[in-house]
Amino acid sequence: MNARIAPLQRRRSVAVMVGSVQVGGGAPLVVQSMTNTDTADVDATVRQVAELARAGSELVRITVNTDEAAAAVPRIREQLDAQGIAAPLIGDFHYNGHKLLTAHPAAAAALAKYRINPGNVGRGSKHDPQFATMIAAALKYERPVRIGVNWGSLDQDLLTRMMDDNAASASPKDAKEVMHEAMVASALGSAQRAEELGLGHDRIILSCKMSGVQDLIDVYTRLAGRCDYPLHLGLTEAGMGSKGIVASTAALAVLLQQGIGDTLRISLTPEPGGDRSREVIVAQEILQTMGLRAFTPLVAACPGCGRTTSTVFQQLAQDIQSYIRTRMPDWKRAYAGVENMQVAVMGCVVNGPGESKHANIGISLPGTGEKPVAPVYVDGEKTITLKGDMIATEFQQIVEDYVRSRYRART
Ligand code: SF4
Repeated sequence: MNARIAPLQRRRSVAVMVGSVQVGGGAPLVVQSMTNTDTADVDATVRQVAELARAGSELVRITVNTDEAAAAVPRIREQLDAQGIAAPLIGDFHYNGHKLLTAHPAAAAALAKYRINPGNVGRGSKHDPQFATMIAAALKYERPVRIGVNWGSLDQDLLTRMMDDNAASASPKDAKEVMHEAMVASALGSAQRAEELGLGHDRIILSCKMSGVQDLIDVYTRLAGRCDYPLHLGLTEAGMGSKGIVASTAALAVLLQQGIGDTLRISLTPEPGGDRSREVIVAQEILQTMGLRAFTPLVAACPGCGRTTSTVFQQLAQDIQSYIRTRMPDWKRAYAGVENMQVAVMGCVVNGPGESKHANIGISLPGTGEKPVAPVYVDGEKTITLKGDMIATEFQQIVEDYVRSRYRART
């Protein structure tokens, strides 16, 4: 099997506790997500938070935009606790966070972190006192905050000032560069203000989300070079389907490879009726395929070609992938290290045996014209050859037996 690639060296950042979850300070990269339900609808929000948490979201952010939503927060927390869902909840505030956190102390207490968007805290003379009110809530309830800058709502007063200064300078920079600098200045300036108001350095996480891949890489590279706050990564408005996944992966992989980032959220737009948990799976798959964390056994499958005229191996690859996902919650509770298992499902003899030998368990199905048999490899050794209609079931049993015998039972 493949030797495990050592996790890449991460840039040092301060550790921030969000409820029971450590972000930064060398902790494993944290996967988070956000609901798209009306938070005032307690049942729907509890249901979706539970789904996201069961899919592996270690933190879940919810919109807190109205009195009704704020009033629902403690009830959502209670119901999740009753179901044994411990994922900390993060409140996403814009425009009226200062009012809601003041008027709804139970919500402020039930949330494990407050997201503050410095561009949506209030314009002009309102900005500073409203920001200070939110920080006062964080101090009162001993909560961390995320200063979450977004280029779609960048602090316009700050941007205008920086653009004016740039225009008046002897060698003006490109407008895009000024905008990137304004993103970083907004995050760092707000963090500094929060600390001046008494918030601990270890109570602040930063993000500077943009929707362009190169823009995001540039802004986070600047930000990471100028502070040691933990960084929350995410390409905002990534989009739907493969475009959203590819763009998010392209941007985040470059940053993660440089050791930048402590927590991530993949902002996918679900297809109508689509599964919100997809964003959690994609985040996990980015981290796992980069060798940064392991969540669930990976299935390597060949793409198929003219040598495989049947769809048998596609079906088997899909069946084994969903079998593993379904079994994983039980396996994870019972066996330590099972998430590192690698399984290969290959379409023919060309690369099948080779790839199978590199996995913990591999199967090489017969291609067109090959003998209708499927050799199975366990830890690099050929152990059995399957044939007939029950290959899928028999292979699943082999995987099941392997997990039981190979991974240490948790006591
Ligand atoms: S392993 Fe065989 S079936 Fe799969 S892509 Fe390669 S040649 Fe084609």
